[in-house]
Amino acid sequence: MIAHMAPENSKFIDNVLRMFDQAVAYLDLPDGLAEQIKICDSVLRVQFPVRVDGGYRIIDAYRAQHSHHMTPTKGGIRYSLHVDQDEVVALATLMTLKCALVNVPFGGAKGGVRINPRVEPPEILEKVTRRYAAELMWKNFIGPAIDVPAPDMGTSAREMAWIADTFGTMSTGEMDANACVTGKPITQGGIPGRNEATGRGVQYGIREFFRHLKEVERCGLKGELCDQKIVVQGLGNVGYHAAKFLSGEDGCTIVGIAERDGGLWDDDGLDVEAVATYLRANGGVKGCGIGTYIEDGRSLLTSQCDILIPAALENQITADNVDGVKARLVAEAANGPTTASAANNLTARGIAVLPDLYLNAGGVTVSYFEWSKNLAHIRFGRLDKRLEEARASQLMGAIESMTGTRFTPDQWRDLARGADEIDRVRSGLDDTMRHAFGEMIEARDEFGAPDLRSAAYIVAIQKIATAYMNRGIFP
Ligand code: NAD
Repeated sequence: MIAHMAPENSKFIDNVLRMFDQAVAYLDLPDGLAEQIKICDSVLRVQFPVRVDGGYRIIDAYRAQHSHHMTPTKGGIRYSLHVDQDEVVALATLMTLKCALVNVPFGGAKGGVRINPRVEPPEILEKVTRRYAAELMWKNFIGPAIDVPAPDMGTSAREMAWIADTFGTMSTGEMDANACVTGKPITQGGIPGRNEATGRGVQYGIREFFRHLKEVERCGLKGELCDQKIVVQGLGNVGYHAAKFLSGEDGCTIVGIAERDGGLWDDDGLDVEAVATYLRANGGVKGCGIGTYIEDGRSLLTSQCDILIPAALENQITADNVDGVKARLVAEAANGPTTASAANNLTARGIAVLPDLYLNAGGVTVSYFEWSKNLAHIRFGRLDKRLEEARASQLMGAIESMTGTRFTPDQWRDLARGADEIDRVRSGLDDTMRHAFGEMIEARDEFGAPDLRSAAYIVAIQKIATAYMNRGIFP
């Protein structure tokens, strides 16, 4: 048991540490080990000048490597004016726990640059990104075996391409240079399915929840996944893909979308694609003419729905609004959307929560596939796709001659198709989400933990503790 429990507070880092403390209380760890797992190993703060309009601007940037129990460390880079040291440390801590939970062999890290990517022109963003990458190189905070960034809020494949290019240019002869960052464009060493991976993981995690009927009944949800009405906060990379897949492939109804300038509502379901197209072009949802516009977007968090998906930023469900939450499942696509006290409130009211460190692990999982592919220097499936096709064709031919019935050309095409790289990525992600869900349920039942979040923390902390003990650092 940790001597000093973190106080209840709406500060992101305090909430993460409080959740950590609550979980550690279930474990019997050697003296000092919980403290070692909890603290952040290294934090880099850099301030560098960038030439803008004939003058200079000083840019403030961070990279936190929370845990080196496994290397490289891994985590996204966030571009936002709210970035500060506490935020990157909190996000890096979550990354460590997330990687352990979903069995991805990395320590956690996170980076942040204090800049507003929505107002800066691409030329400035490129200068800042390249200089940030150079700073990380000079301080030994980036590299295929050291620390591997990825996209997060405000960044995308474009920034990752600049980072990979800067790193590659400055490390002649490093044949694994491309593995210094993930989330790259496919043409520059990326992997199919990475861009949408976090939203896809959100879909797979919610699907897995609905395969566990006891869990569905326990929180008071009725019917199947296709019967659920969903509110999404934040229609960015994660929220857009989650909403698109859940509505387009699983038949859910997206009744509400909350964005930074207000929300949209339609009982019959919003057209996610149309809203996203308008949002990309206009930077907001106001005036799009789809559904009913609601000025106070945050009020959608407490609107009537079955599943609430916060997919924007931290500290959205707090002591102030948690009593109003009507969803029976809160699916945390964002990092840290629920404060510790609000989380306990939801649990006390029987509302299920799929916690951030589980539900948004799709990004880091597919990043792991991308990194592995970059190190292997070969596309997944290159060696065995045609072999799979040949074997399936042989089997189908044998079935035809034994039964005297012929497969249709469509059946041949579907059944004898070897898996493409994207099929393998989806299969690996699905397997990861199912496996981690099972581990959470098992831990919750074994330890008598109150909810899946505590269970997720318990599973992760146990694995990290084992890694330390295996290295002989703790008895
Ligand atoms: P993004 O920048 O692509 O999208 C964020 C969206 O939220 C934007 O559309 C923005 O307008 C909206 N938004 C911002 N403030 C808002 C507010 N107050 N109310 C409503 N909407 C608001 O970011 P993203 O990559 O989708 O990340 C979203 C969350 O998911 C973050 O918490 C991030 O840490 C987490 N996450 C992202 C990834 C990833 O692969 N991108 C992986 C894991 C976790």
